[in-house]
Amino acid sequence: MNPVDPKRWRRDFPLLSVRVHGQPLVYLDNAATTQKPRSVIDAVNRFYKTGNANVHRGSHALSAQATTAFEQARDRVAHWLGVDNSATLLWTRGTTESINLVAQSWGRQHLRQDDLILLMQSAHHANIVPWQMLATATGARIEVIPLQADGDIDLAAYHRLLGRKPALVALGHVSNALGTIYPVETLCRDAKAAGATVLVDGAQALPHFDVRLDTLGCDFYAFSGHKVFGPTGIGALWGRRELLEAMPPWQGGGEMIEQVSFDGTRYAGLPFKFEAGTPNIAGAIGLAAAIDYLDAQDRLAMETHEQALLQHALDACSQVPGFRPIASGSRRVSLISFELDGHHQQDVAHWLDRQGVAVRAGHHCAMPLMQSLGLPGTLRASFAFYNTLQEAEQLAQALDQLAQSQKSTVPVADLEQSDY
Ligand code: PMP
Repeated sequence: MNPVDPKRWRRDFPLLSVRVHGQPLVYLDNAATTQKPRSVIDAVNRFYKTGNANVHRGSHALSAQATTAFEQARDRVAHWLGVDNSATLLWTRGTTESINLVAQSWGRQHLRQDDLILLMQSAHHANIVPWQMLATATGARIEVIPLQADGDIDLAAYHRLLGRKPALVALGHVSNALGTIYPVETLCRDAKAAGATVLVDGAQALPHFDVRLDTLGCDFYAFSGHKVFGPTGIGALWGRRELLEAMPPWQGGGEMIEQVSFDGTRYAGLPFKFEAGTPNIAGAIGLAAAIDYLDAQDRLAMETHEQALLQHALDACSQVPGFRPIASGSRRVSLISFELDGHHQQDVAHWLDRQGVAVRAGHHCAMPLMQSLGLPGTLRASFAFYNTLQEAEQLAQALDQLAQSQKSTVPVADLEQSDY
């Protein structure tokens, strides 16, 4: 019996009551993006209705008010992450841009021919491609930290690779394709002891549990607002102050300067040096509203509920003939990557969609992981705290219907026309 009732949370998310193909929506694609509570939608609306002005440059009341709201949003998010100095929290468009910022600025400044970059086998493309671009530009080399068969990181291999003194270790906090939670505190400590600079991709961690950057031990932490119930187009990069201060800007333009002449430019200090151009003001305000929302809830109750969802979904789906979960290690968030034997993943996703169940099928922007698993892709059901046990059962029932009705001999298109 699950002691936590998610109904009180569901009421706050207007989108959860829409219907899809005539069915009530069962939204299990939270790893792609999360739904937004009314308070976030209202904060963004309110800004455009009554507070819209550009920031940091106006000489009028509305601009001063927008600047205050924008900078308070930065303070809010920084404080939530345990960051004292909010100037070390840079606004970006999201995780992808945050990692590109580090690769282009810190990376080009520090990496040389034959320097070693360590990436994880399960990395999202956003934590692979920027480093490949950097390696091409600098002559640095990339090595991959393998996973064990159960999806956890292969610690022995990791330590062997650290023995080769990498310049940079780019870790993932939680795998978006497997749901595995990696022991980043230990991984960061060991990488730092080996002399490396460490970046952590936190995109899939923050939606599920609180993270304190004052104790995590990394040098850079990247995340996206839209994965933590905030708007799209906003995210952040946190970096150690001394590293950020020494790094060159990566984009030039307005907002990031102190003094410009045709003879040269003096850059502004943190955080503005890294924030060229008009920022996503409404996005930052919306993200702060999302953090306010999360902070006002019992996050432990959310975590307990999500673990109950995971267990319930796994138990129910395990009864489905041909259901095969993809290994995801000992600690994991509420995400199930799986196959349904005899059925193409896209067909299954399409079938589930017709039943109102939204999941994702494919490589989940982790093609090297899929290659190592020998799979073209998987199905992924990713839960958030607002999902219900009944929704987990609906997923299993819909899969069961497909598995029981025929053994993949009838195309899904025909199934949809049949009566069940
Ligand atoms: N890393 C991980 C682990 C992710 O799940 C995602 C989003 N799927 C990203 C990076 C990229 O995030 P965004 O597209 O918001 O920049």
